[in-house]
Amino acid sequence: MDSAHTMSLSSLLHGIRNDSSMLQKFLYSHDLSTPPKFIMKFIKNIPDIVVQPESTEDVLKILEVAKQNRIPVTPRGAATSAYGGAIPLKGGIVVDLSRMNGFEVDEDARLLKAEAGAVWWDVQKELVRKGLSLRVYPTSAPSSTVGGWVAVGGYGIGSLKYGGIADNVASLTVADFSGVKVVDESKVSRFVGLCSATGLIINAEIRLREFSEDKPYAEHMSIEDAVKVIESVKGSDNPVHSALFIDSSFLSMKNQVKGTDLPEKDTLLLCDGKESNSLGEELWEDRFYPMRIKMLGPSLVTFEALIPLDRVPEFYREAKRITGSRHGFEASVLLFMPSDERRFSYTLHWLKVLKLLKLARKLGGKEYGYGLWLSHRSRYREDFEELYEYKREADPHNLLNPGKFFPEGAIPRLMSLAELTAVVV
Ligand SMILES: Cc1cc2nc3c(=O)[nH]c(=O)nc-3n(C[C@H](O)[C@H](O)[C@H](O)COP(=O)(O)OP(=O)(O)OC[C@H]3O[C@@H](n4cnc5c(N)ncnc54)[C@H](O)[C@@H]3O)c2cc1C
Repeated sequence: MDSAHTMSLSSLLHGIRNDSSMLQKFLYSHDLSTPPKFIMKFIKNIPDIVVQPESTEDVLKILEVAKQNRIPVTPRGAATSAYGGAIPLKGGIVVDLSRMNGFEVDEDARLLKAEAGAVWWDVQKELVRKGLSLRVYPTSAPSSTVGGWVAVGGYGIGSLKYGGIADNVASLTVADFSGVKVVDESKVSRFVGLCSATGLIINAEIRLREFSEDKPYAEHMSIEDAVKVIESVKGSDNPVHSALFIDSSFLSMKNQVKGTDLPEKDTLLLCDGKESNSLGEELWEDRFYPMRIKMLGPSLVTFEALIPLDRVPEFYREAKRITGSRHGFEASVLLFMPSDERRFSYTLHWLKVLKLLKLARKLGGKEYGYGLWLSHRSRYREDFEELYEYKREADPHNLLNPGKFFPEGAIPRLMSLAELTAVVV
């Protein structure tokens, strides 16, 4: 899009905060992921304009302008996702929802009603004051947004007891080209985990629990024993809501980065159900900073998937073989590999992630938060055809975050090819 078009786009969006300066467009052209450089040649990640709506009316106006001019729309929360969901595939309008960050609490119904741009930890601090708590939140909670995590459909702290965010959404208010609709629980799967390819999340109603002081405790044990312990404490009647297996190599990297002397042994961290201990408290405090080890890279390649609990030891052993010794492993399963994007080995690390995804599927697990880089794998979702039909109906010109979740263009083909190659790395 040339500068004259950008100017007219800016005037069409008059009344809504917008910025088409080169600096701003560059800042909004990335998220936390850094793919190997050659991949970026296949996308137009620099948007034409960045807008910051402050109301539902603003969002509807943006969608109207996008529809009239056939311009793609890429919603963005805090851009902490590592799969490229908030990166434009074909330029267009980036919609930064961070100004729509209000929320209220229905204490009787134990429901949070939050705008998409509300930050999880701001919400949690207010809930605690009211004697309530989120049931689940991502470890990126200090910065990530309600809309972003719902759109990714992730798992996090609390998921052992309460499931993923998908299991805790009571309703959504979404906007698409036909206007605003309230979607009840039975239909939220059309939006949760689809990276906004079917609509923009304006508001979410999220289930809450009563607040209780966190009591984290940690014990050293093998992955096999950790799985047995987790098996014995999982279930809705058990007070344990979170379990993180943190392996010795991750702890070793934490020590290197933080200058601490945590015991470099495989460790299981549980929260609630027992009195806390000092190792538990130290690791729990650190739960928000899994990416500190990036300093050792200086880049980081990450992997996330769900694996059936009884297959986790097998996955862990195989993942160790694939990634080599230099990785950090936190069960549920998040895996981090320090890397260096300036070197060829960085591309190999990306290939290893694809290999791990195949392994996860082989063991009965599944990926989530497909974004841009993993859209080629969305076809494995059981309801893919149904979702695709809905997408075509709601977004016939494919303007809602194109290339996210639903495969489009060169990236999915490249990734499928890379996955074949990954067998030999
Ligand atoms: C330190 C760290 C820890 C993390 N821990 C976890 C974890 O425990 N569990 C986990 O699942 N993930 C985790 N992640 C990944 C990521 O943080 C989460 O997925 C996060 O919730 C994304 O939120 P965001 O606001 O940053 O969204 P963004 O990255 O900005 O966006 C993610 C996707 O959602 C879409 N989107 C954003 N807002 C909206 C909206 N209002 N409507 C529709 N679509 C929208 C975007 O287009 C994009 O496709 C972690 C990341 C980091 C950096």
